[in-house]
Amino acid sequence: MKISSFLDVTKLKPFKRRRLKKMEDPFNLYYEEKAEVFCIGKIPLRIKQEARSIIKGKLENDIQFNRDYVNSLDLSSEGKEIFDSALSQLSFWISKLVGMKKRRKGQSLYPWQYAVIIVPSLSFNAWVRLSYDEKDNTALIFLNTGVLLENLDRLHATFSTPGFLEEFWSGKAPIEKPLEIKQGYLCNLSENQVFRAMATEISIKAAMFVVFHELAHFLRGHVSYLRGELDHSGEIHEAPTSNTEEVLDNTTRRVMEVDADQMAGIFASQFWRQFDHPAVSPKEFRNEAFSLEVMSAILSNNLILGQYEFSDKYYSPIWRTQHILEFFYKDFFYVDETLPLLERQNRREKISRDMYKLQLELMSEHERSYEIMGWGKGLSTERLEKEIDSLLGDDQLAFNRLIPVLAKYMPPNFFYQRPDGQEQY
Ligand SMILES: [Zn+2]
Repeated sequence: MKISSFLDVTKLKPFKRRRLKKMEDPFNLYYEEKAEVFCIGKIPLRIKQEARSIIKGKLENDIQFNRDYVNSLDLSSEGKEIFDSALSQLSFWISKLVGMKKRRKGQSLYPWQYAVIIVPSLSFNAWVRLSYDEKDNTALIFLNTGVLLENLDRLHATFSTPGFLEEFWSGKAPIEKPLEIKQGYLCNLSENQVFRAMATEISIKAAMFVVFHELAHFLRGHVSYLRGELDHSGEIHEAPTSNTEEVLDNTTRRVMEVDADQMAGIFASQFWRQFDHPAVSPKEFRNEAFSLEVMSAILSNNLILGQYEFSDKYYSPIWRTQHILEFFYKDFFYVDETLPLLERQNRREKISRDMYKLQLELMSEHERSYEIMGWGKGLSTERLEKEIDSLLGDDQLAFNRLIPVLAKYMPPNFFYQRPDGQEQY
């Protein structure tokens, strides 16, 4: 890894950034007037309408995710520009993931379809469920606006704190400078344009991780399993909600989250490999910059989640950060499969150790700015020991029992098939 040389370049010589092609207004592309919903993915109008009514019920209001909603967030003109650009790029990546064409016979996942719907709520949450009618073979992923906005706000503020990343690249503790903290979303922005670009890029990757995680709940068969075996609606939320959630035992819940996190780590690596690991960086340091962005994105999501009151339904944010990254590296770092087993294990362990060191350094940088901004002390390690025990103990058994049961509920094995000659939908 050439991390230090990459950081020098970022700091000392502002590099020429590839100018993004002017992207089309995402509201033109994804806002469906007839359903009043912002939906990325090819699903029929009536299911978009169903998604709309699900959102209405959940939020208990009539607010839509449209241009007026974005205007109502009352962002400064710079803040609005950052949000708009992040939303365009996030929508673009989601459309690449979901695909914008109707799935045909013979394609992967057929006859399943899925879509991502942006929800006008500022709380940090996302959820996944199937459409009411099982004949529709449709999964709906709901992503709150808060997932993107909170990440943007906190990462931009973090990158604007004096001395951010300085210790990381020079080894010297940053000189404490007074900081005037402004209140409101996206008010604390770095003067350094490269830092601004990085903060936006990491926020987009963080929101994509949430989408990968929701997708994993669907692809791993969790939602259908809950419906089919446990008399549960199959709706899985990421953060606790005020709505009374259906009873699901904590072990099953935790084990599913672990499974979804692992898959999300792998999906992220596989997805971005197709696009050459995009990152804010000069070309020669792309991979280094990309892995730093990924670490920061996962950290950012979990630092935000860490501020929620967590119950035994979830592993703690610090444990999850580590676990997701572990699975990301497995796919991201190439290890020659023809090497003897022991050699392969040694190489993987060495990569993990190096990455863990970097991760700890990044974590302390983020935690320092969290303290400066008054967002708490960062990730608590209090629960960690207990969790290592439970995962190695009962949860591991539950995990091993659940995985084979899930297989029959995974989309390729579990769907409603219409009679020959009858189209899906
Ligand atoms: Zn989850």
